[in-house]
Amino acid sequence: MRLRSGPLLLGGRNDTFLLSLGCLGSSHESYALRIYPYVVRGADGPVKEPRLILILGDQLSPNIAGLQSADKDRDVVVMAEVMAEATYVPHHPKKIALVLSAMRKYAEWLKQEGWTVAYTQLDDPRNSGSITGELLHHATNFGATKVIATEPGEWRLNTELTDFPLPLTMLPDSRFITSTSDFANWAKDRKELRMEWFYRDVRRKTGLLMEGDKPAGGKWNFDSDNRKVAPIDVRPVPPPAFAPDKHVSAVLDLVEARFAANFGDLRPFSYATDRDQAMQVLDHFITHNLPHFGDYQDVMIRGEPTLWHSVISPYLNIGLLSPLEVCARAVSAWTLGAAPLNAVEGFIRQIIGWREYVRGIYFLKGPDYVSSNALGHSRKLPDVYWGGETGMQCMKEAVAQTRSHAYAHHIQRLMVTGNFALLAGIDPQQVHEWYLSVYIDAFEWVEAPNTIGMSQYADSGVLASKPYVSSGAYIARMSDYCAGCVYDVRAKSGRMACPFNVLYWHFIDRHADQFRSNPRMAVICRSWEKRNASDRAQIMADAEELLIRLDQGEPL
Ligand SMILES: Cc1cc2nc3c(=O)[nH]c(=O)nc-3n(C[C@H](O)[C@H](O)[C@H](O)COP(=O)(O)OP(=O)(O)OC[C@H]3O[C@@H](n4cnc5c(N)ncnc54)[C@H](O)[C@@H]3O)c2cc1C
Ligand code: SF4
Repeated sequence: MRLRSGPLLLGGRNDTFLLSLGCLGSSHESYALRIYPYVVRGADGPVKEPRLILILGDQLSPNIAGLQSADKDRDVVVMAEVMAEATYVPHHPKKIALVLSAMRKYAEWLKQEGWTVAYTQLDDPRNSGSITGELLHHATNFGATKVIATEPGEWRLNTELTDFPLPLTMLPDSRFITSTSDFANWAKDRKELRMEWFYRDVRRKTGLLMEGDKPAGGKWNFDSDNRKVAPIDVRPVPPPAFAPDKHVSAVLDLVEARFAANFGDLRPFSYATDRDQAMQVLDHFITHNLPHFGDYQDVMIRGEPTLWHSVISPYLNIGLLSPLEVCARAVSAWTLGAAPLNAVEGFIRQIIGWREYVRGIYFLKGPDYVSSNALGHSRKLPDVYWGGETGMQCMKEAVAQTRSHAYAHHIQRLMVTGNFALLAGIDPQQVHEWYLSVYIDAFEWVEAPNTIGMSQYADSGVLASKPYVSSGAYIARMSDYCAGCVYDVRAKSGRMACPFNVLYWHFIDRHADQFRSNPRMAVICRSWEKRNASDRAQIMADAEELLIRLDQGEPL
């Protein structure tokens, strides 16, 4: 049975019937649905009415569950660019451009594959502005009474779809190795949900880097060989850059016209926007940067935003790459002798370990998880996060590259911007909204556990066994930032002391009652308490002064 255009017939839903009219704008020939009188004819048997197959902007995988359960001859794929999704936080313009460009190219591919696609562009005058509004609109157009969706990656949309007035089947997102119910089973009866145990189970389940039932190389984790300091003689090769094609150019103009006020530079835009390009980024990483990935995973160098990182998170998160294919490529580089085991193990751990684990936590803990605030932090996010003036070279560097590229690597997110927010006691909700807005790979299922749990310890240790905090010494060791800073990283107190140094002890002091019972924090609390009283008083006074300056909106 096929959906075919045909004569406009008025009639009941027997073996030939009119589905409806669809008319969405006029200027976008290749995407907008024009007037389509659709007729469904049964070959011989009874006619089945079409269903709407919803594909969201981060579900652009060729094998997405909704598509796999659909019938090309019967169903209509619905894709919609809507303001509700483009504005729930002030997304970086590059992130909006990536998602819209990739959606349009995916829709094009679907059509070439013979699917019927009802695509709504953002500037379509009849755009209802929301996903559910578009579903209702197309249900009327096509006479569809059922919707098939793949579960969205955030509670917000999940609730919106659950409340949808027509019957809607929500399929599990099979792109993940661990389903949300598998994760809930794994978590059941465990006192602590540590990533390392979860990761080992996924290694066993997938057979990745396994030799029988033993880990390759005799160890599960090679971190002790990793995390070296910044090298002088080895340099990373930046990821490939893609010139905007006609789809991307049209989207860039649209985003420029509508989202110019959002934080972040739209141009130049060189991210991959389809599966072929994303595969090129992956190939490039495997060939050039994977061999050093483990060694220099934590390094930060001025003017080198991507270093030896893969920069594939945007493509994994919107579905252009799949986690297992990425890991298989890395493992095969090791098998062929093209990358060492410490690099490959460290890399796949991020994907089958951390990535799957944070998603498990997000769905296990429910919609209230993002509002956690275990440390009671309430300070306003300072302007420096939006590009405000600062003498702190590390913050300046991390924010400037975030503004230009919508990208910062893990250690910049965790140990610079995240560390500062936690030490300064910034409201975790504001920190969460910032991360969700400014990064090209930010989708709530992955961003929120990383921010609320790993970075801000706002979930009281569900995700991390201790807060990820450090003084300036860690940043000095792993980066070349401190050399160009107005502050002195070696000074422990005084007006020119590195703000991380004094805020670190202020943080320990104000939460000591809570941390003393944590075996991983107790030693630090004791070492603070053993310091002489005048040192402690000086550090506390310096930290208080910094916090007052922050509260007054003064740049640090
Ligand atoms: C506060 C904070 C917020 C973050 N927000 C996001 C986010 O919105 N989206 C996002 O994808 N990642 C997020 N991360 C995790 C991590 O920083 C990014 O995945 C990584 O920087 C992406 O760059 P890359 O592709 O070059 O990663 P690489 O360093 O090359 O790592 C390879 C892949 O491993 C995965 N990965 C690595 N670390 C993590 C992690 N902690 N959690 C989940 N996946 C991981 C990513 O898919 C990544 O592409 C966040 C981390 C922190 C500390
Ligand atoms: S001295 Fe402190 S504030 Fe300056 S770059 Fe180093 S760590 Fe950052």
